[in-house]
Amino acid sequence: SLSLSEKAKRVKPSSTLAITAKAKKLKAKGVDVVGFGAGEPDFDTPQNIKDAAIRAINEGFTKYTPAAGTDELRDAVAKKFKEFNGIDYERGQIVISNGGKHSLTNVFEALLNPGDEVLIPAPYWLTYPEIVKLCDGVPVELYGKKENDLKVTAKQIEEAITPKTKALILNTPSNPTGMVYSEKELRAIAEVVVSNDIYVVADEMYEHLIYGEQEHISIASLGEEIYKRTITCSGVSKSYAMTGWRIGYTGSSLEIAKLMSSVQSHQTSNPCSIAQKASLEAITGPQDAVEEMRLEFDKRRKHMYERIVQMPLVDTLEPEGAFYVFVDCTDALERSYKGTRIGTANRLAEILIEDYNVAVVPCADFGFDNYIRLSYAISMKAIDKGLDRLEEFLNTL
Ligand code: PLP
Repeated sequence: SLSLSEKAKRVKPSSTLAITAKAKKLKAKGVDVVGFGAGEPDFDTPQNIKDAAIRAINEGFTKYTPAAGTDELRDAVAKKFKEFNGIDYERGQIVISNGGKHSLTNVFEALLNPGDEVLIPAPYWLTYPEIVKLCDGVPVELYGKKENDLKVTAKQIEEAITPKTKALILNTPSNPTGMVYSEKELRAIAEVVVSNDIYVVADEMYEHLIYGEQEHISIASLGEEIYKRTITCSGVSKSYAMTGWRIGYTGSSLEIAKLMSSVQSHQTSNPCSIAQKASLEAITGPQDAVEEMRLEFDKRRKHMYERIVQMPLVDTLEPEGAFYVFVDCTDALERSYKGTRIGTANRLAEILIEDYNVAVVPCADFGFDNYIRLSYAISMKAIDKGLDRLEEFLNTL
């Protein structure tokens, strides 16, 4: 028959796309839209990284590589895990993939049997539940509380565990909240994970983007037992402004790494040879560009936070990592606009784009209905222009 995959049809179309599409349309018409939707650094990929890619092309490094990545890149990633994260992985435990998203897909394909549950602390990056479902798993959401800066506690995790629980996703620094788990919190979570014998999928994609007093701690570095149960995921996309190059990587037990590379060898083969050379330069070359970007993000973060907390009807936490501000709009949603109660963050985002030319991401698909996410991966000038408009709107309510 001509019917299509029920599993594919169950994938949720992203509500953020509707807003992005609208913003694009307006921009094409010449409207001066401020886009707070960006999920990628606004900086260019550093020149030394581009040069490494150009060299790779000119030297003919343009053929298949081993499916799990080149030896030199896997070794470089292992060294980075050791020096930056304090985790011991050897080459065989590293799998290079086509981006952070692809790493997560590999991980869940290696871990899940149909019906296995995966705990996903909300608010979460909207892709997690969709990948879990595509890999035949069942996403189980638990909700971070405001009094705990929207992070989940070890106790909440313990209470959510059932005989079907296979893994916990732990994203620090977090997209969308910018919150960072402390060593103490991670130790408590590790204890629950180990005593209940489940896996942790640690998504540390934003590990280099940490501000203020915070420190990035990798849960796998906290002891032998938690190390065995953790798959640590990261990549070059956010840290090196390399979102288009599509390189992610994981460190895990040898057994899991073997399964993942076997899956990958059939589904995609190796990630792009040229992008692997570029990523090698990113990881082993000079790191000054990372620090420059981080300092600029930090300035914008502080500025944005200071402005938003002074606005009426909204509330936010001071972000500690990544490049997002997560804004609680509960009070604003109770107000009316043009005679009708606003009600949902989706509607609020619609009003902002249509009447104020500001694109924000409504966060129902991140598991938090009353919130919007604003990215500060745009220029300070654009940030101020957008915040002026947001404030003007809130003042009318
Ligand atoms: N993990 C988190 C938390 C992210 O926010 C993103 C990108 O938005 C990724 C992973 C995926 O990164 P990549 O572009 O390498 O697939």
